[in-house]
This record gives sequence, structure tokens and C-alpha cells, in this order.
Amino acid sequence: MEDCIFCKIVKGEIPSNIIYSDEKIMAFRDVDPQAPTHILFIPRDHVASSAAVRDNSLWSDLVGCAVKTAHELGLDPKGYRMVINTGSEGGQSVPHLHLHLLAGRNLGWPPG
Ligand code: AMP
Repeated sequence: MEDCIFCKIVKGEIPSNIIYSDEKIMAFRDVDPQAPTHILFIPRDHVASSAAVRDNSLWSDLVGCAVKTAHELGLDPKGYRMVINTGSEGGQSVPHLHLHLLAGRNLGWPPG
């Protein structure tokens, strides 16, 4: 999608700190990290939000990639959080589906 910032990252049109990439999923560091580890996992193809997912296999690709990355980064013992903000009340600011992987500090609950 032309004006989508995450599509521009996929196309290499704007810089990002990429930590994983395959034919379906990309992962890169959040530009404004909210925890010592803050990584975003996105589908390469534009999907506006979780509400727009039509192929449920995307969930296993996205979550599976995040869980595997967390394991490889050594996050399992202390734990981590995965978050998908959806829509305005869900706190979504970028309209391209993304899963946040957060770790490295005690994360409060409930979220703000
Ligand atoms: P959300 O509020 O759930 O839509 O999260 C959007 C996230 O994208 C925020 O945590 C932003 O810091 C992050 N973000 C926005 N632009 C960029 C970018 N160019 N590179 C990396 N992360 C970004």
C-alpha cells in the first residue's frame, strides 16, 4: 500500500533495524522502544489490522515467528509479552497489522 510506513519498510524505502525476514513475515526493532526488547512482527503483504485478516494461517506465521524469536533471544526464562493493538480504542497507530514483542523489564498490568 503506497502510503503505509510498514509497507515502505518491507520495500526498503525507509530504513529499519531488521532482525528477521522471510517470504511472509518481517521483524524489526520498534523505533520508539517501550522495553529493552521491543520488536515488531508484520506480514509483508498489507493487512490493515487483525480485524482484516482473512487467512487464519497468518496467525500461526506471525505468532510462531515471534515465539521462535523470543526463544532464540533467550527471553523464555524471564518471560515476555506479545501485543496486537487493533483499531482506535485498541491503541493502533499504524494501520498495518503488527505484533509487538516486549521484554526486558517488568511489564505492568492492566495496560493503560
Ligand atoms: P501501534 O500503536 O500498536 O500501532 O504501534 C505502532 C508502533 O510502530 C509504535 O510502537 C511505533 O513506535 C512503531 N513505529 C512507527 N514507525 C516506525 C518505524 N519507522 N520503524 C519502527 N517502528 C515504528
